[in-house]
Amino acid sequence: MDNSNKNTDIEIIPKSSEASDAKADEVECCKAILMKANQLQYQLNKLSSKIDGLQLVDQSGFIEESLQNFTRDLDNQVASIKAIQNMQAEEFEQKLLEKDRMRLELLDALNKQEQSHLQETESLKKQLEASDKRCLELEHQVESHKSTIEHNTICSICFDQWNSSTEHRLVSLGCGHLFGDNCIRDCLRRVPECPQCRARADQGQIRYIYGRPL
Ligand SMILES: [Zn+2]
Ligand SMILES: [Zn+2]
Repeated sequence: MDNSNKNTDIEIIPKSSEASDAKADEVECCKAILMKANQLQYQLNKLSSKIDGLQLVDQSGFIEESLQNFTRDLDNQVASIKAIQNMQAEEFEQKLLEKDRMRLELLDALNKQEQSHLQETESLKKQLEASDKRCLELEHQVESHKSTIEHNTICSICFDQWNSSTEHRLVSLGCGHLFGDNCIRDCLRRVPECPQCRARADQGQIRYIYGRPL
């Protein structure tokens, strides 16, 4: 039994030694695994930080790209606004030129109209002067005729001198006014009154005048 026990012990010891070795191995292995794990963790951390760095780089690249896009968009917008402004400025300038042209045309037309009015006024003034002159002449003639008529030397109807034998011989009406015979007869046929004083008259009033010097 002892032997058997011893044997068993002997068997056990190595067994135990094996177990101890195995445990040590296991510990070593665990240590190694731990170390490896630590190394891996370290590498992982490094990688992670690298990835972070890369991401940061990527983000900065993205930001840069975004900025570039934004700047490009902004440039495009500025260019577009400038183009619109230029177009508007050009349109405004065109309108200004057009208005200026119209203003000049209007001024020219006004000047021409003014010139024409001045010429017309000048012409009218001359006509007025001429007609004033003519009026004056006529007034003189009328005055002259009046004085002639007042002195009873001519017929007040035809302004011709009367005579003593022809159809224009000297006659008088009831009012005493003198005319050429045929002239007063024509007048009375149209209007039955004296052409000088408007007194009612007819052909029965006509009298030949003999005593007046002709
Ligand atoms: Zn007469
Ligand atoms: Zn009369």
